[in-house]
Amino acid sequence: MLDIKIIKRDNMETIFCNNPNDVKIKVPARASRKENQKTTIVNVNGVEIGGSEVVIIGGPCAVESMEQLYETAWSVKSSGAKILRGGAFKPRSSPYSFQGLGEEGLKLLRQIRKESGLAVVTEVMDTRQVELVAEHADMLQVGSRNMQNYPLLKEVGMSGKPVLLKRGMMATIEEFLHSAEYILNQNNDQVVLCERGIRTFETSTRNTLDLSAVPMLKHLSHLPVIVDPSHGTGVRWMVPIMAKAAVAAGADGLIMEVHYKPETALCDGAQSLDLEEFTILMKDLRKVAGAVGRKIL
Ligand code: PEP
Ligand code: MN
Repeated sequence: MLDIKIIKRDNMETIFCNNPNDVKIKVPARASRKENQKTTIVNVNGVEIGGSEVVIIGGPCAVESMEQLYETAWSVKSSGAKILRGGAFKPRSSPYSFQGLGEEGLKLLRQIRKESGLAVVTEVMDTRQVELVAEHADMLQVGSRNMQNYPLLKEVGMSGKPVLLKRGMMATIEEFLHSAEYILNQNNDQVVLCERGIRTFETSTRNTLDLSAVPMLKHLSHLPVIVDPSHGTGVRWMVPIMAKAAVAAGADGLIMEVHYKPETALCDGAQSLDLEEFTILMKDLRKVAGAVGRKIL
């Protein structure tokens, strides 16, 4: 466990990992794992992330239509996913790309949530939309591009909803944990950290999936850690391989893009699994989870 030196305890600012054999980074007080502290369980409408179960989140990159969401949601559910993903507000690099269905997309998510019983996670990009998104979803996603949007972090913290915080593509682990601390400071400990790949010099993959972040984050913090092998690789055939590797590395869950017709997807089709690929992967993931003392129900 951590050998830590507390630098400024009075304002709950920073704990410094001070073991010469250990890492030397600053870990903020609320996010840090104290001695013998168990992983925090984040409860997403009854789905517990951070316990013995590895929780699988699946669904399209973007909500496109009722048919697309319905077909995908029911299939991932029958394969064992517990939470449905799908962006209604999409952070796209180009302003000319599909930006998401907005409120219409949220309504579709809400309807499928009701019919399927799946919990729903969706991204919120703007402080002005937090209330609206919180009315429709069980968990609020803060995307990679917004990891250091501090007003947004405070606002999602205040919403009282569980938050899925994705690692900034250029963020260090220290910065990532400080961003989580902004949410925790709002008296909201329901935060899940998500490794989704970082930018490196490598160009063959969309990002470099930093799987070493999983044991490191779990070592430094009590917050559950999940992995996104879809954005982490950008390459469809690599997703199952890295998904299995992530579970072997101790991830508390996975978030993956799944589409009923990836070749027609309006966003990120090249990294989306089809329904059959997802079903096969779930079977393999159960074996890997069992091998590392975890389970997938
Ligand atoms: C997403 O999960 O829909 C997404 C946009 O991911 P990221 O923020 O990690 O790029
Ligand atoms: Mn995507």
